[in-house]
Amino acid sequence: MQGKIALEEHFAIPETLMDSAGFLAESVWPELKSRLLDIQDKRLKLMDEQGVEMMILSLNAPAVQAIPDIKKANEISIRANDYLAGEVAKRPDRFQAFAALPMQDPDLAIRELERTVKTLGFKGALVNGFSQVGDGQTPLYYDLERFWPFWAKVEQLDVPFYLHPRNPLAQDARIYQGAEWLLGPTWAFGQETAVHALRLMGSGLFDQYPGLRIIIGHMGEGLPYSMWRVDHRNAWVKAPPKYKAKKKIAEYFNENFYLTTSGNFRTQTLIDALLEIGADRILFSADWPFENVDHAAEWFDSATISEADRKKIGRDNALKLFKLEDRSAAQSGKAQAAE
Ligand code: MN
Repeated sequence: MQGKIALEEHFAIPETLMDSAGFLAESVWPELKSRLLDIQDKRLKLMDEQGVEMMILSLNAPAVQAIPDIKKANEISIRANDYLAGEVAKRPDRFQAFAALPMQDPDLAIRELERTVKTLGFKGALVNGFSQVGDGQTPLYYDLERFWPFWAKVEQLDVPFYLHPRNPLAQDARIYQGAEWLLGPTWAFGQETAVHALRLMGSGLFDQYPGLRIIIGHMGEGLPYSMWRVDHRNAWVKAPPKYKAKKKIAEYFNENFYLTTSGNFRTQTLIDALLEIGADRILFSADWPFENVDHAAEWFDSATISEADRKKIGRDNALKLFKLEDRSAAQSGKAQAAE
């Protein structure tokens, strides 16, 4: 399929580069490093080869979220966002941007979101899970009350928020002790992000700010497969839910969440996501440079789904969600006018 739009696609600046080291074998680090630091060269060639018209770019992980010093977190956010704005300006027809945000301080996060969206034209924010602040030992999840003014601003600016994975802190990762192979994208990323998303759903956040749109990657971090059970466990016991939100958890999932295919190139899994959340809320992504664009595209282009759904997931949902200009329509319109 030509004209695909991908939105979990990362880059690094020198200050955040080493955050991506250590996940893969040392022998592939030179390759990963060059992929992360490149925007206009190899990345663009791959996009051309694989029918990816546009990438909405975001900083690597955990980056800003793992900088407990508020001032430093803010500085790195600004530096990364300014750099990204410069790269997008070179090819706005091929690249757009998500903001990195210093969530350690909700007021600074509000300020940087507003600056990047209003002044730099960014399409939303991508945040790498919980933030560390102060001694770095307490993970701040964004259902906490201190973040609600931030969410009010996200709703007001009318931009999506991508909740991207990171590993749990060491003291919260005891279940992985002696089984460290489960950390990262193998399992811990998805687990961490799914619980964070459920915390948001149960907090009442979406009753207060129903216009919020949260994106999660990796075909929903396992949530589509488990959503029914979240609401229906022990159904024979007639007891009200123990969370603050007013509705069933699945209602928030269906009304406030979007999923991407990043790093989860499996048709069976996509079909389950289609059956749970529907084709209007799934968007194509690769997770470059940690996954290959060709692996994502070759799978997606030949997946056994309807062509109508492929068009929505591959392109149209992103055009709508990010209010992007449909350049292919503009071009064919021009061609028709010239005839
Ligand atoms: Mn990613």
